[in-house]
Formats: sequence, C-alpha cells, structure tokens
Amino acid sequence: MRAYFDYNSTTPVDREVFDAMAPYFADAFGNASSIHSAGQRARMAVDRARESVATFVGAKPSEIVFTSGGTEADNLAIFGVVAACRPAPNGGRRHVVTTAIEHHAVLNSCQELERQGVAVTYVPVGRDGVVDPDDIRRAFRPDTVLISVMYANNELGTIQPVEEIGRIAAEADVVFHCDAVQAAGKIPLDVNRLGADLLSISAHKIYGPKGVGALYVRTGTPLAPQFHGGHHERDRRPGTENVPGIVGLGKAAELARANLAGEPARVAALRDRLERELLSAIPSVRRNGDAARRVANTTNLSFAAAGGEALVIALDLQGIACSTGAACSSGAVEPSHVLLAIGLSADQARSSLRFSLGRHTTADEIDLAAAIIPGIVGRLRALSPLAAGTVAAG
Ligand code: PLP
Repeated sequence: MRAYFDYNSTTPVDREVFDAMAPYFADAFGNASSIHSAGQRARMAVDRARESVATFVGAKPSEIVFTSGGTEADNLAIFGVVAACRPAPNGGRRHVVTTAIEHHAVLNSCQELERQGVAVTYVPVGRDGVVDPDDIRRAFRPDTVLISVMYANNELGTIQPVEEIGRIAAEADVVFHCDAVQAAGKIPLDVNRLGADLLSISAHKIYGPKGVGALYVRTGTPLAPQFHGGHHERDRRPGTENVPGIVGLGKAAELARANLAGEPARVAALRDRLERELLSAIPSVRRNGDAARRVANTTNLSFAAAGGEALVIALDLQGIACSTGAACSSGAVEPSHVLLAIGLSADQARSSLRFSLGRHTTADEIDLAAAIIPGIVGRLRALSPLAAGTVAAG
C-alpha cells in the first residue's frame, strides 16, 4: 500500500478532466484562431472553459487570461503591472509590496524587479505564518504601484487576510495581485469579495493537467503583455492556445467548485487525525503555522533532529510520499524561506515535513502513516548527532 501526502505539490488529473480533454488532442485538434469549423470547435471549447474559470473565481469571462501555469500567471501580473505603470516624470521610482512567505514565482520575480531598479518591500510575517494587514499598510509609499500577497501559503497552508489587504490596496489606489494557486479548490474564490485586481490559479493543483493556468485581470487594470506575438487572449498573452490543457482547467475548475461543499471538511478530519496521531506518538514535534487559519488539507511539522530529507527518503521507501521544508540547491540543503520567516532555526526548518492531503486520501493512508512514521523518526534521531539535548525522552 502507498500513501500520497503531497497534493500541494501536485494532484492527479481527475478522470472526468482527462475524459473532457481527450477529444482535443487528435479528433478536435483545430487551432482556436482558425475560422473553419475545426477551428471553431476548438474556439467553442476554449470559450466554455473560460466561462467555467470565470465562474470559479467570480469574474467575467473577458477577464480571464490563460497561461502556462501559476508561475507564468504570477510573472505576467507582476512584470505586466510594473511595466504598464510608467515612472513619475521626475524620475520617481516605482515600489512593490509583497510578503516574505510568497512562492518563488513571486519572490524571484520581485528580486528581478529590484535588479531592474524597482524598490520592493518584503513584509515579514508572525510566528503564526500570517501577515499583519497593518504592516502592509505601513509598507505603502506614495510610489507604490503593486501589492502581491498569496491567499494560502503552500508550505504551511496558512490563509492570509487578503480581504483586508484588498481594502487597504483599494484605499491607497494600489493594484492588488493575489496568488491563489494553493487556495483554489480549498476555499471559495471571489475576486470581488477579495478586492483583487489580479489573481493567479494553476490547473495541476486542482486535479487538472500540468502546464496550464490562468490570470484573472480586472477590467481596466494596467497590464503590459510580457510575450510578443499574435493577438491571442485579447492581446494580453500571445501564442496558440493549449486547447486540451485549457479544457482540462475548465473542467477541473467546475469540479473544484462543486466539491467545495464537502471535500474540505472530509479532508480536514483526516488531516487532524494524522496530526493528532503524530503529535501524541512522537516526542518533540512542533506544528508550524496557525492551526485555525489554514486550509483544510495541510499540516507542517518539525521533527527535531530527524533531518527532513532523510525522513522523506526513508518514508518513501515505506510507501509514504510527503515533502520537506528544504530544497536542494547547488548541492546544499537550503532551509525553506517560509519556515525561516516564521522564526524557525535552519536546523528546525531542515527537520520539517509537509503533509498535504486531497481528494483521494483515505483513512487507510492515515493509518499507514501513523503506524510507520514514529518508528522512522525514532531511528533517524538515534543516528543524529543533533538529537542529544534537543529531543525529549520518550
Ligand atoms: N504559487 C504557489 C503558491 C504555488 O504553490 C505554486 C506551485 O507550487 C505556484 C505558484 C506555481 O504554479 P505552477 O506550478 O503552475 O507554475
């Protein structure tokens, strides 16, 4: 038996999504820009998907721009707004506000903006993994053109106060981008309630295919295209449409909306049981991020002195897939910027695991995890020189 606890990383394509996409590879293969009937069949499918995605986020179909995924949607939002807002005639700078816990698609885009001479403020978060709207308010300057804050954090699952941030942005007349890639399918999305001018989603996090996503762009929001080519997507994103992918995103959005009624509660019950079992069976485990203000499917736990990478590998050998709060970059294990931002030490961050559950998670998978993980943590700690003094007896 295997257990998959890495739905925040990616989800399997839903069978209904797969079936909806299938005709658009070989049978209805037309180019959605062609005026003949094969093209028009593809165009109609793209239009239907656009309506479904618009309904999913509470927008008008004309406000949806299909992209190659969440990363591209974030890049288009950030570079597109900054490029469209010219510097003041007196050479005034432009300023962007974001948080310390954004996904790299946002953080690295902001770092690139800094190299291009744009000022960026990275607002810190509390130990709870939630940004304080007052800190956002204080970060605004007269030359602030954009604020980008994620809805739900991918590592902790914590939900950011985006409605309040939307109000603050509107008061200050600053464009508000929300990366909702990890919120989609877990909490209802409504761009008007959030006050978002731009909002990113990605198909492969909601049981759709990889390599397709969408950016919601509120009518009237200044946005310069970042690719140059044809007139696709109302001149906002050129390139022949990925028709099967877009159809898949449309179907995934439709299913995600329907499943919001029951799925989060079912998944939260399983996640809470997993958490209870691990916290009670293993000494010196800490839960990271606010336990209440988070999406239903995510838990992030630090297993002092156990080594997250070694844990992921050992658990995988036992059939359990999860992920660590560290990423291997240029040969070294770098602790997660999110875990450092909530005050964990590098060692604590490196010994953290994220379990993210989803549509197909079963009680048997929780039983497997509860049976296997305590023993593996114990064995790795016994081998670790870090364990002495940091792990409570038991
Ligand atoms: N934003 C967040 C919060 C994410 O979790 C991810 C993916 O992990 C992305 C953006 C990037 O999305 P994609 O994988 O579609 O490029």
